[in-house]
Amino acid sequence: MQSWQTILKNSITTLDDVPEHLVSGKEIGTITQMYPMRINPYYLSLIKEKHDPIWLQAVPQQAELEDTVCMADPLDEENLSPVANLIHKYPDRVLFLVTNQCAMYCRFCTRKRKVGTTAMVIKDTTIQAGIDYIRTTPQVRDVLISGGDPLLLNDERLEWILSQLHAIPSVDIIRIGSRVPCTLPMRVTPALCTMLKKYHPLYINTHFNHPREITPEAAKACTMLADAGIPLGCQTVLMKGVNDDVTTMAKLLTKLLTIRVKPYYLFQGDLSRGTNHLRTSIQCGQNIMRGLIGHISGMAIPTFAVDGPHGKGKVPLTPNYIQSLDSQLVFTNYQGETCFYDNSA
Ligand SMILES: *Cc1c(COP(=O)(O)O)cnc(C)c1O
Ligand code: SF4
Repeated sequence: MQSWQTILKNSITTLDDVPEHLVSGKEIGTITQMYPMRINPYYLSLIKEKHDPIWLQAVPQQAELEDTVCMADPLDEENLSPVANLIHKYPDRVLFLVTNQCAMYCRFCTRKRKVGTTAMVIKDTTIQAGIDYIRTTPQVRDVLISGGDPLLLNDERLEWILSQLHAIPSVDIIRIGSRVPCTLPMRVTPALCTMLKKYHPLYINTHFNHPREITPEAAKACTMLADAGIPLGCQTVLMKGVNDDVTTMAKLLTKLLTIRVKPYYLFQGDLSRGTNHLRTSIQCGQNIMRGLIGHISGMAIPTFAVDGPHGKGKVPLTPNYIQSLDSQLVFTNYQGETCFYDNSA
């Protein structure tokens, strides 16, 4: 079996490398100079035809360069960083970016402005500065390690970061955000799991967007992580042509439970420049949620949320079930019936 490093090395990185039957034709090569492309052989093998839900996530489209709606840094991350690559937006938790590399460069990436490019500079000194900030800021109880994809670091480098964070008394939990279980599941090795389980309580939020991504390989990676005692969540992004219908979304969410991944968030697309062609309306997401809540296992239901532009934070966009609320609650149930609840207590 090939190592994950070898698989990654065999990624295609330019439009010229895209197999002919998957070329859509209108793209110009300069897209990948602006927004890098990397499709590793595993993820490439999941694509059946051009414009399918896997293709849309991985293959650059001309529309990326024609986006006049969205912003480079919609979440204002650069201004919310007390030290480079560390975003302190909420009182008790930080987002800590530890690499600019990913196993596949998603076309919808929130940090499209810099992921995989030289604009995202992460060195030992920036990582050390982030750890020092967390150590001297005791209100930070929860550290989210992200990037890029932290699981693209080798085991030693990741352990160097985890062990230092774990040793900080004010840090209660560590979370890793990683798409690797979906995009390069071979990266989840027994050695990685043995290392990770030394740093509990450790959570991993992974990221699947389509049921076809849930392969035997992905299931194996998630099983290994779960067997290492790591609770697994999923942060899905709602996208046009990928998962913007109830049937696909229900299949994805219920399938995730079978590989021991609990759906956590369903995100409305961020207003990141170069991603506008994949965005859906808020109503689209709310209609999907209406088609899910009550109809499939509550365990499979994520919170549908938008991350407020300019760093305003995540807010749930659950569809409204309340018709009126005073001494009586009047509400609509999942079957569309009007229901009443005495609220005079
Ligand atoms: C999303 C995010 C978090 C984590 O938010 P949760 O709702 O706790 O998952 C923390 N910091 C930043 C900057 C974020 O964008
Ligand atoms: S894995 Fe995450 S950080 Fe990397 S390109 Fe995809 S969405 Fe962006």
